[in-house]
Amino acid sequence: MKASLYHFKTLRDTPSDTELISHKLMIKANMIKPIASGIYSWLPLGTLILKKVENIIREELNNGNCLEIIMPLVQPKDLWDQSGRSKEYGPELLGFKDRNQRDFYLGPTHEEIITDIAKKEITSPKDLPKTFYQIKDKFRDEIRPRFGVMRAREFLMKDAYSFDIDENSMHETYSNMKKVYQKIFDRIGLDYRIVSADSGSIGGDKSEEFHVLADSGEDTLAFSDKSDFAINIELLDEKDPKKISGMSSPDGNGKLNLKKGIEVGHIFELGTKYSKAMGLTVQKDNVLKDIFMGCYGIGVSRIIAAAIEQNFDDDGILFPESISPFKYYIVLINQKGNQNINSEAERLYSELKENNIEVFFDDRDLNPGVKFRDANLMGVPYQLVIGEKTSRDRSVELIKRKNQQKEIIKINEIVNKFKN
Ligand code: ATP
Ligand code: MG
Repeated sequence: MKASLYHFKTLRDTPSDTELISHKLMIKANMIKPIASGIYSWLPLGTLILKKVENIIREELNNGNCLEIIMPLVQPKDLWDQSGRSKEYGPELLGFKDRNQRDFYLGPTHEEIITDIAKKEITSPKDLPKTFYQIKDKFRDEIRPRFGVMRAREFLMKDAYSFDIDENSMHETYSNMKKVYQKIFDRIGLDYRIVSADSGSIGGDKSEEFHVLADSGEDTLAFSDKSDFAINIELLDEKDPKKISGMSSPDGNGKLNLKKGIEVGHIFELGTKYSKAMGLTVQKDNVLKDIFMGCYGIGVSRIIAAAIEQNFDDDGILFPESISPFKYYIVLINQKGNQNINSEAERLYSELKENNIEVFFDDRDLNPGVKFRDANLMGVPYQLVIGEKTSRDRSVELIKRKNQQKEIIKINEIVNKFKN
């Protein structure tokens, strides 16, 4: 992509009324635009990154034999009455009436819809086990939307739902999904931990959360210094972090240490909560059996904010390569003075593009300082500087964004080098 054809209006000043660095940087880099409290549009740069996260998630779920579907955002209240959650869920659930006075909710999650689908689609034990998923906007009327897309009212979630014939099979599906989640977060390149968690209004017997470690995290996690014991402190009797730190671990092994985390994923064994409430059964050996369910969420849009909380410096974002908007940012210097340099840069850009190397070409008629500022802000991992000095010996300067490590490379060697 060429800067002259792209749309990004980065801000010079730090936006006010932003508490978290990720919120500041996403606004500053022109990735998102607020329209109302907790409601955002995603501009081209933000959308590009969001799609990268989405694609990694989609690929790994497909590899794990999960089946992608699309469910409606607008959900009949009747289904929520069947599950008993229209009362239980609380004021985060935003409802309205259609012209015929029928009640609907904007979907904050989709257990009711998927259970209703399963009632119609799963007609024999041969249809089991099965896992469906979607990547879809959710609406939750959060009491305090804040931190940009981290806690929004409308946000993108991946939600998956599994169906099994019995409890053991559900355990197996759950543990396979946990592995798929580990692949996803490993591939994105985040420093994360898995902890036992409270199942809240989703329900079920067992749940675990995936947390990106960051000092700005809203959740406090406790880890034993001697065992694998790891828990969200909301599950402990004692809630005061000062008292928990140093306490003996409830599993009898070692002492508890605390870390802050941002919840990016949550997986649940639901058991038969929704099947019982809504009548999801299957006949096996002449007996009607309640189907065992699991559900599995990932905060797709939140991941981007969390990745930034973990990867930034004074100049801007340091995206993990897996989700950076581009891999290389060509900084063209002094294009007015020398036509040769211009065409050299054009050629390099076309060649990289032809070889499917993700490149952003800053061909704007601006001084180098502005281009470096934007390159640093956007979090592109490598900068390719091409100007008078390098062009004379047909080379470019490659700068690693993270540590400013510099290297001179011959132009005719670049494509081969980058392809490997
Ligand atoms: P939280 O405790 O942060 O409110 P939750 O327990 O309500 O999260 P789930 O219902 O498990 O969240 O939703 C699945 C995932 O969706 C969460 O792990 C989180 O990453 C993401 N998520 C939840 N609420 C929001 C929100 N308001 N804005 C952005 N992402 C969210
Ligand atoms: Mg919540």
